[in-house]
Amino acid sequence: MAHLAAVFNTGATQLGLRDQQAEALITKRTAERHRLALQLETSIAVAKHIALTLNTDQLLEQVADIICQRYGYYYVGIFLLDETGQHIRTSASAGRDLTAASPPELTLRVGQEGIIGWVAQHQTAALVPDVSRDVRYTLWKTRPHTRSELALPLKVGDELLGVLDMQSDNLDAFSADELPVFQALADQLAIALRNATLYRSEQTQRALAETLQQVGKSLTSILNVNEVLNSILDYLASIVAHDRAAVMLRHGTELEFVAARGYGTAEGPRPNTRVPIQSDEEDNVFVKIYSTQAPLAIPNVNEYPAWKRVEAIRNPSSWLGLPLIRENEVIGILSMARLDVRPYTEAEITVATTFAAQAAVALENARLYERSKRFSQQMEYEVQNRTHALQEAYTQLEQLDRTKSSFISIASHELRTPITVLKGYSQILMNDAAVQANEYHKNLVSGIYTGAVRLHTIVDSMLDMAKIDGRTLQIYPEPLHLFDLINRVFSDLRADIQQRQLSLTITPGVQALPPLEADEDGLKKILYHLLVNAIKYTPDGGRITLDGRAWAETPPEMDWPAPGVELTIQDTGIGIDPANQDLIFMKFYQTGEVALHSTGRTKFKGGGPGLGLAITQGIVLAHRGRLWVESEGHDEQKLPGSTFHVVLPLRHGK
Ligand code: ADP
Repeated sequence: MAHLAAVFNTGATQLGLRDQQAEALITKRTAERHRLALQLETSIAVAKHIALTLNTDQLLEQVADIICQRYGYYYVGIFLLDETGQHIRTSASAGRDLTAASPPELTLRVGQEGIIGWVAQHQTAALVPDVSRDVRYTLWKTRPHTRSELALPLKVGDELLGVLDMQSDNLDAFSADELPVFQALADQLAIALRNATLYRSEQTQRALAETLQQVGKSLTSILNVNEVLNSILDYLASIVAHDRAAVMLRHGTELEFVAARGYGTAEGPRPNTRVPIQSDEEDNVFVKIYSTQAPLAIPNVNEYPAWKRVEAIRNPSSWLGLPLIRENEVIGILSMARLDVRPYTEAEITVATTFAAQAAVALENARLYERSKRFSQQMEYEVQNRTHALQEAYTQLEQLDRTKSSFISIASHELRTPITVLKGYSQILMNDAAVQANEYHKNLVSGIYTGAVRLHTIVDSMLDMAKIDGRTLQIYPEPLHLFDLINRVFSDLRADIQQRQLSLTITPGVQALPPLEADEDGLKKILYHLLVNAIKYTPDGGRITLDGRAWAETPPEMDWPAPGVELTIQDTGIGIDPANQDLIFMKFYQTGEVALHSTGRTKFKGGGPGLGLAITQGIVLAHRGRLWVESEGHDEQKLPGSTFHVVLPLRHGK
């Protein structure tokens, strides 16, 4: 029995032991399951938050909170790497007794400070069961009770974003088994962080792109250089953070400060401050930007030996200089600086470069506009001056012309009487029997008479011109037959025509013309001058044709109603250059070389006073008619000929 009992007891003991073991196992398993469930729940909760928010700050705070609460940890912190990759900073934290007044805001040097710094450097997890035995550990004043710690890298691929740090006030609170689950959570968090950053940077990029576009538009619409300079600095403030900025423009081999911001009242570049851009100092920032035509960012000016202070301006810390380029030439430099060490990032440099390109366009536009404005003002001034001078010259010329006209008028009046006497007496002498009998004397007297007649004609022309100039030409219209008048003028010129072996044709069109109201003397002069010219400018053996037609309708530019007549005098002469076809109607105007004057009124290309066409024009206009010429050009070999057209109204004064 005893044996049995012993066996039983042993069995019972064994049974009890097994029970205890089983119980312990069950408890352990239950605890494990509980932990696993907790971890899963935590992961799910974190995942839910991650899915819900793109706001990183909020997300990190919430994740730190959830982990801290669910596990009952002493402290949970999420640290993010800064832009330089040299420091890691607290971004969110949760923990027991954390007060707003003492947030454990920390900035740690990567690889040099604490377990977190170590994880950031090695990019692998650190599980520390007892912090007091780990050399990497540094005590934080705000977390004195930390006993164990688990720090996990937040990585996407090979890139480290930060560190997830968990601390417990119990020793050995973290087990190696849990590591994969926690790392999975950390990875999830890292991806969420990356997504949020991408989203944020995409948003910022879009906003920046929009701002840049707006800025570009507004800048290029300003046309005043000073305004553009001010706007460049205004806009720059909203595009890339800086404490001070300046625009410098190139003048030859120097850059001049033309606008500046943020320098305070005492310092700052004085207007007209200049720095050289063409020197041997290759590392000089301005020289460098000018020669490379590329932006230059200096993370810390105080560590850049070639940095030169400009005047008494306090040195900045981080500096960025951008070339303002137009048509492959640096027209200036945009400089911006931060007083503390915050180097300009690649992204900032890219944005600033785009902005600088727009600024350069705007500046160039405004400069061109101002230049063209100055130029047109100058032009306007010049034009005014010239107009004034011209006006004066014109008045003087008018005065001279009037003086000349009155001289011609007086002189021709004065000449007329003696010429008439000369003409009369020489005619009497010509008819004298004694003169008639002596061939020698007869020739002399006839020469005197021809000269007197020619002089008479010239003086008459001068008188006519003076009347036309002085608007005193009187016309006395009466019904006339053009055909009769032509015959009368023709008979006067018959001898000349014959002498020059010219043929003159008067078409039936002329004969059929209706009578018209005109001044007889005037009309005879019109015919005379046009016929004399046709004879004079047609070589021997040429043809002259007179044609006429009635006008049933008058073109609108003529200010008298239909009907009218048109007479054309066509010759086979040397023709008139189109460039001279208006000028020949001006008084004294003669084209080409003027031959000797007064050698006879109808000598080929013989000179005259240059008044014939001006008088003809004056008389035609006094009849409210029109006179013009048509000719292919002047050619003494091909003889293109000229056709003069005279249009006169049938009735006068209506
Ligand atoms: P003038 O004959 O005295 O020089 P006009 O006023 O009559 O002055 O003519 C002006 C100019 O017009 C002439 O010098 C001549 O060059 C040109 N001209 C006039 N009529 C003719 C014509 N029928 N053919 C060619 N040229 C002509």
